[in-house]
Amino acid sequence: MGLCESTLPQLGRALRPQEKDILRYPLIIFVVGGPGCGKGTQCRNMALKYGFYHVELGQLLREEAQRSTQRGRQIRDIMQKGLLVPTGLILDMISDNLLSYPKIRGFLIDGFPRELEQAKEFERIVGRAPNMVIVFDCSMETMVRRVLRRGQVEHRADDSEPAIRKRLETHYTLCEPVLTFYQQKNLLRHILAEEAPESIFAKCCSVIESLL
Ligand code: AMP
Repeated sequence: MGLCESTLPQLGRALRPQEKDILRYPLIIFVVGGPGCGKGTQCRNMALKYGFYHVELGQLLREEAQRSTQRGRQIRDIMQKGLLVPTGLILDMISDNLLSYPKIRGFLIDGFPRELEQAKEFERIVGRAPNMVIVFDCSMETMVRRVLRRGQVEHRADDSEPAIRKRLETHYTLCEPVLTFYQQKNLLRHILAEEAPESIFAKCCSVIESLL
């Protein structure tokens, strides 16, 4: 899904054996779901409650996209079109974040993986699978409604209507193989994310506590 003409890294940096060793012990939880499913809010709450570090890829990318560098401009262009940034860049961001907090109990990686290549690359580069993959299930109508509301409040460039349509299409096209991949490893935990945030949080807590 990466743009071939971009100069953004297409392949992630391979980790050294000592770095892989550091990442053998903390809990690593991936959190996936379409735009507006509420994963960002729930990850923030879970991170606070369990002392996990929240790797918020969308937010880190939005920060990069604001820089007036060639890299910033390329990221901004991809995000405004509702496309995915190249896997290499994502993997480098994840490994840098994980290695910066070697003593932490666990990581919540929010918005990853968004396509099968990312899931496989993570295992190749980090040398292990996640402990769990939480999936926020939400109807298209709910997601569109939430994202449009957020767009009015936060003025996020990628919450415009054409970008949302493309983000949803990207999500629905690419997420199925990811879910199948983790279903086969018995790592998927589905959470119905249509209700009030407090009841979704209670469900998140019970899946997290099954790991502790
Ligand atoms: P989010 O805030 O999670 O909805 O992400 C906002 C945007 O960031 C997405 O539409 C993508 O352009 C980009 N993005 C976030 N996570 C990833 C990822 N794992 N792989 C590629 N692009 C991503």
